[in-house]
Amino acid sequence: MDAKSIKQERSLVLLKPDAVARGLVGAIIGRFERAGLKIVAMKIIHPTPEKAAGHYSGPDEWIRGMGKKTLDSFEQFGMDVNEVLGTEDPFEIGSMVLSWLVDYVSSGPVVAMVLEGVHAITAVRRMIGFTIPSRAEPGTIRGDYTIDSNTISSLEKRSTKNLVHASGNVEEAAQEIAYWFSPDEIVSYKRTDEDVMF
Ligand code: ATP
Ligand code: MG
Repeated sequence: MDAKSIKQERSLVLLKPDAVARGLVGAIIGRFERAGLKIVAMKIIHPTPEKAAGHYSGPDEWIRGMGKKTLDSFEQFGMDVNEVLGTEDPFEIGSMVLSWLVDYVSSGPVVAMVLEGVHAITAVRRMIGFTIPSRAEPGTIRGDYTIDSNTISSLEKRSTKNLVHASGNVEEAAQEIAYWFSPDEIVSYKRTDEDVMF
């Protein structure tokens, strides 16, 4: 790994429909820019359910993982998952969550962008905070701007609204960037603070 490739790591970020509808686009992008991340691609689009589903076509393990997060929260709050969702199987719960997620992401316009910078993937994930906003640390985007929980969202049979998506790892980032942008939509330029920061 060389210095240049570390500086040019890229992450795909989506500002989800709740972020756009609440007028939080500028505030959220401002945090990324301030931290030294560079916007190298950006667009606003209203995704169809098919487009949203394509973005979330993760492996079975990821679907099971979403189910497990739900089971954890139900256990933490002493709620009966069978009573609310009719199953306690992590994969079945994950599949349910996935269909709510597709409804959520296709419910309005989203801002898709590619952020580039030093260890961009981990940096962005740290800045957005834990998936479930009510458990996200203060100082993170999810912790500062919203407070939804997967207990209340499961009772309401909808996805947890958490403002932002960001790629989880290098493979996910490459796949997601190619899914939302063609190579000619990604630009390259120098920021004036680069020479001072590094
Ligand atoms: P993202 O992939 O959107 O950045 P994440 O990696 O933090 O979020 P994932 O486990 O990949 O979380 O879940 C994807 C999305 O599905 C979450 O951002 C959230 O909107 C929704 N979601 C996840 N788990 C649940 C759940 N248990 N109940 C309802 N919605 C959920
Ligand atoms: Mg994810």
